[in-house]
Amino acid sequence: MPFKSPFPDIEIPQVDLLTWLFESPDAPLPDEPIYLDSINPEEKHLSLNEYRSWARRVAGGIQGKLGLKPQDKILVFSSNNIYFPVLLMGIVGSECVLTGANPTFTPRELAYQIKDVHAKALFVAPDSVSTAFEAAKTTGFDTRKIFVFDDNVKNPNRSAWAKYPIGGYWTDILSEKDDFRWRRLPVGELNTTVAINYSSGTTGMPKGVEITHRNFVSNISQSIHMDGDKPDYEPVNLAAIPMYHAYGMAAFVLQSAKTGVKVYVMPKFDFLEYLKCIEKYKVTSIAAVPPIVVAFAKHPAVNKTDLSSVKSIGCGAAPLSAETAIAAEAKFNGVRILQGYGLSEVTCAVIVQRENKLNVNPKRGTVGHIAPNCEAKLVDAEGKELGRNQPGELWVRGPNVMKGYYNKPEATADTITPDGWLKTGDVAYVDDEGLWYIVDRKKELIKTSGYQVAPAELEAVLLEHPDVADAGVIGIKWADNERPRAYIVKNVGSKVTSDDIQKYMSKVCSSYKQLTGGIVWVDEIPKNPSGKILRKLLRERAAKEVQDT
Ligand code: AMP
Repeated sequence: MPFKSPFPDIEIPQVDLLTWLFESPDAPLPDEPIYLDSINPEEKHLSLNEYRSWARRVAGGIQGKLGLKPQDKILVFSSNNIYFPVLLMGIVGSECVLTGANPTFTPRELAYQIKDVHAKALFVAPDSVSTAFEAAKTTGFDTRKIFVFDDNVKNPNRSAWAKYPIGGYWTDILSEKDDFRWRRLPVGELNTTVAINYSSGTTGMPKGVEITHRNFVSNISQSIHMDGDKPDYEPVNLAAIPMYHAYGMAAFVLQSAKTGVKVYVMPKFDFLEYLKCIEKYKVTSIAAVPPIVVAFAKHPAVNKTDLSSVKSIGCGAAPLSAETAIAAEAKFNGVRILQGYGLSEVTCAVIVQRENKLNVNPKRGTVGHIAPNCEAKLVDAEGKELGRNQPGELWVRGPNVMKGYYNKPEATADTITPDGWLKTGDVAYVDDEGLWYIVDRKKELIKTSGYQVAPAELEAVLLEHPDVADAGVIGIKWADNERPRAYIVKNVGSKVTSDDIQKYMSKVCSSYKQLTGGIVWVDEIPKNPSGKILRKLLRERAAKEVQDT
């Protein structure tokens, strides 16, 4: 029997995303700023009313001047800024689809996503134009469909990209007036895709996770319900988590706006800057990933920062050890770090620690309870369902489970069963109180600083090196983080060194994908008879090597 959520089912509004957030094109909305730039909040801010107005201009421009059609894909290649939410809602209003790419991507990585998602237009941060241009050239993408995107809307620095034959500045294509009226979708169309977030899933290369209107509305409604009543203080958030990722998109593009919470938006993550913002803006709620919690525990600057405004800390995206949580909590005024577990394939979160709302004693190491309207089960290698306190692969089902992987029916069928269960690839168990613990990862995925690294992608890059005959990549645990480590077979007679490989990788892959877990030269990569890498053997070998050093 599947495990049910301890929360009663909630009623999920059966409306499209824009109607859910803005009610209607002309319903009165608040004018107080909710998005504020963390560097220049006096000049750069947006209210919910302005958010909708900008989104309507974007939507009108995409359908009008850009001439895109429903379900065309628009790729956003930018770090956070106060207009990122505007792009999501504008793109959705135009009935197109937003796909976000990590702003640190190299041209090769960006080219992969442009091709895989069949992007029709690119919105790119000014300092990423050269990367986008190079990526476009290798894929045959029309560079006139590249638009520069940033928050300098009053005075964009056009000379910075004048040498590139691109489409111009993003506001050039917007409608002059905010008179665009989005189509209120009938219930039968709520399974329409609005965003494609990239994840490698349980195996292989990164794939586009199709998230629908219903997915977003469900998952944010579930999350708001679990948070419970409004707090008795005015919440202030700090958005340092990237908005192109499931976590940042759900937390800061949608949930904060829906609940009217003020968000200071950090363009780039820098821990010292982050601390300054917490103190300066009296931030009350922190959304963290384990490396941020580690920094709270260990960084000397924390002791000189006034953190007394902080009332809640959530942590997700990767495992967090109890020791680190305890060490970090000591820096705050009686705040308990609450974990959440999720994956791009469930929109954002599916198991969340909210014991206080359920009158259950908080426990260390748990990621919490199943979200309302969701159920979970644990399955062993033979497909048999397991009971409490027995670790197995976690399968989940609910209205927030993705529609599927874009254009990849086989990967979708391997991941979602015909009756709607999503195989997470994570190993978990549930205790007698219904609290869940993530204990291992069955899938190949490596997570470094909350970012996904797909071993298959790094292996493909390594195999393109002329001196590499074969390669296998796995993650090794490193404090509350992981590091990619490569096992490589050299071509016969090759004199290639680890340094050569590291230099090569630094040119082709983003910094978080570098082989910081080391390179080990081997004679052979262990494989099964059908040629699949036996990663379990590599992981066991790595654990021993790390222990011996
Ligand atoms: P992403 O799709 O990038 O959000 O990555 C999802 C994966 O991150 C999950 O399948 C887990 O392997 C891992 N993950 C997310 N949250 C947690 C957590 N609280 N504890 C352990 N692993 C987590």
